[in-house]
Formats: sequence, C-alpha cells, structure tokens
Amino acid sequence: MNLLEYEAKQILRNCDIPTPEGVVVDETTEFSHPVVLKSQVPTGGRGKLGGIKVVQTEADYIDAVQALKDLSIKGFKPTNILAEELIDIDREYYLSILVNRDTSQIEIVVNKNGGVEVEDNDTDSFVHLPIDTSPDFDSIGQTIADEFELPSQSFALADLSEKLLRCFRENDASLIEINPLVLTKQATLVVADCKMTLDTSASFRHPDWKFETVEQNTNFVTLDEHGVLATIANGAGLAMATVDAVEASGVRAANFLDIGGGANEASVLASFETISRYPSVRGIVINIFAGITRCDEVARAIIAAKKQIAQLPPLYIRLAGTHSEEANALLEAANVHHSESLESCIALAKKELSL
Ligand code: GDP
Ligand code: MN
Repeated sequence: MNLLEYEAKQILRNCDIPTPEGVVVDETTEFSHPVVLKSQVPTGGRGKLGGIKVVQTEADYIDAVQALKDLSIKGFKPTNILAEELIDIDREYYLSILVNRDTSQIEIVVNKNGGVEVEDNDTDSFVHLPIDTSPDFDSIGQTIADEFELPSQSFALADLSEKLLRCFRENDASLIEINPLVLTKQATLVVADCKMTLDTSASFRHPDWKFETVEQNTNFVTLDEHGVLATIANGAGLAMATVDAVEASGVRAANFLDIGGGANEASVLASFETISRYPSVRGIVINIFAGITRCDEVARAIIAAKKQIAQLPPLYIRLAGTHSEEANALLEAANVHHSESLESCIALAKKELSL
C-alpha cells in the first residue's frame, strides 16, 4: 500500500530521519507563520500541477487551503492538506531505497538531479548501490557524496543511508523514495518529499498500521477520469461484467474495483474513500454476489460510509448471496435503498442522475 506524504514522513521521523516540521491543517487551523502547503493526494507530480503552495501571509493561507482542497490532481482530491515549515532550498537530489526484483536485493538509488524534473534524467544517470547483508555505510555515504558532489556531507549521507535501511526493514517497506532530498542553505540535508510503499502482506505484524490509504485485498483500476458511475463488485469477473453493464447502458464507468473474496467492513469503507476522491463520479453502483464475502459486512460498511463520508455520492446497491437477507434488512432499517438486480441499479442511477 502507498502512504500519503504526511504518513510516510511520520514514519521517517520515528526513525530519526530529518524532515521539516509539519501539521495537517484545514480552513479552521490558524495561520501562525509562513509555510508550504501540500495537497495530500495519493499521486506524485503535485508541484507541476499546482498542488504545492508557499504562503507568506494569513490572507494567502486561507485562499491557498481552499484552492488546494478544491483542486483535483490526476483525478484525486485531497482529504488533507499538510502545512510544513519553509526550507531554504540550495539543491535538490533524488535518493530512494527499494527492492530490486531482478537481483532480489535491496538497493539504494541516487541521482544528483532531483526535484520535479527527475523524470527528465537519463535512466543511466541513476546510480544503483546494492545493499548486502552487512553494508559498509561509510563507503556508501562516500559514494553518494561523490555522486552529489558534496564531499562534506559524506558522514551525514552514511548516517541517512543507515537509518533509511533500518526504517525500510522495520516497517516492511518495499519502496521509500525521497524526492527531493534537499540540501538547505544552512548546509543540512532534509527530506522534503517522500513516497513510501509498505508490504500489505506484513500487516499482521504491524497492529499500529492505521493509514488513510489502507487498501486491503482490493484491486482498483481507474478507467476514465471523467467517468460518472463508479463500480464496486466482488471477484474480477463480476467486476468486469459490472463495468461492461454500465458502459453498455451508455454511461461512462469511472473505475474497476474488485473488493476481493474476504472483503470486510474496513476494506469496503476504504474503497468508498478512494472513490469519493474522484470529482467526476456522481453515483456508485455496488454489485455483490457473495460467496466468501458476507453481504451483511458490506451492508454495515455502506451504512458506516453514509455516516462518515460527507461527499459520498448516491449509491445503487445490489447485494445477493451469503447473508443477503440480513444485509438487506440492515439497509432497510437504515433507510438505504437497494435493488433486486444490477440492471435495476443502473436504470435507477440513470433516472435519478439524468444520465
Ligand atoms: P511532488 O511534485 O508531488 O513530488 O511534490 P514535492 O513535495 O516534491 O514538491 C515539489 C517541489 O516543490 C519541490 O521539488 C520543491 O522545489 C518545492 N518545495 C517543496 N517544499 C518546499 C519548501 O518547503 N520550500 C520551497 N521553497 N519549495 C518547496
Ligand atoms: Mn516529490
């Protein structure tokens, strides 16, 4: 699972890795000093798309928070805005630690040209440093310092590499990507942005993992950023059939989402959260034919989502199979409409939303 920036940075902080001071804010949080505001969306490239704003005054701050909340980035609207102390940037570097699947080894990858243009770098310009079982961090720090042309930082880079490896292992990460790693005008190294991927299969040993972006056993694919009906189904076949049925009715489907066999209340709720970030979605079709999945769990998630997610679009629900009678009774008790078939869900969505 991919963490949001503020979640990733909290993990780095716990590992004693230097990051700017930051807090999650909304319109009601008071302005106290100049900050950089950063849209917390589960995608990169925010800098180029207006998702990063430096604000100096209170008036700018209020406008910028509102603008960021309204700004959709690659189809995502943020649920949170991160406000961080400003850093005086001298240079920006790229540094990541990941599992190289080809060599089955952990690797540190660096590039002396980091920042928003990192993708313009030649593939060959990235330096790969394999990390063996007893790494020599002094030498790794030296190599990175040479690459960055920062001889005086070799010690700090050795320390950073060592802490990053520990952080990577202890948190069952498969990727920690720092871009940019900033050299400040005060000659310190700070993590200005971080993308972190954790191995969901290891969640059993991390009872503390509570992230916004928790995706459990689900498969989510964006199909059309301007799609108006989102779909949720269980099983890849049914999920595809649901997308096809929506499209066959002449409506653009926003996504494919298979919530998997053992979907539970938390994973279904996480799916709603993901879908609710798509600004073009006007309704959600939920088509469950339950075997292992329990319809009553899905129904509970639907009822919880209605209470918890303010911007939840209208739902068109069909629940059949295991525990469906109980599920439909729960929905009726909560005054949530459900349909007998997928066809009637889609027909109702088209009628109500004038599609
Ligand atoms: P991304 O575009 O989604 O990867 O977002 P980043 O967090 O990497 O920010 C993009 C760019 O914004 C960075 O490369 C910096 O140039 C700039 N930036 C980020 N934080 C700060 C900051 O505290 N101060 C200043 N001046 N620029 C920042
Ligand atoms: Mn970045």
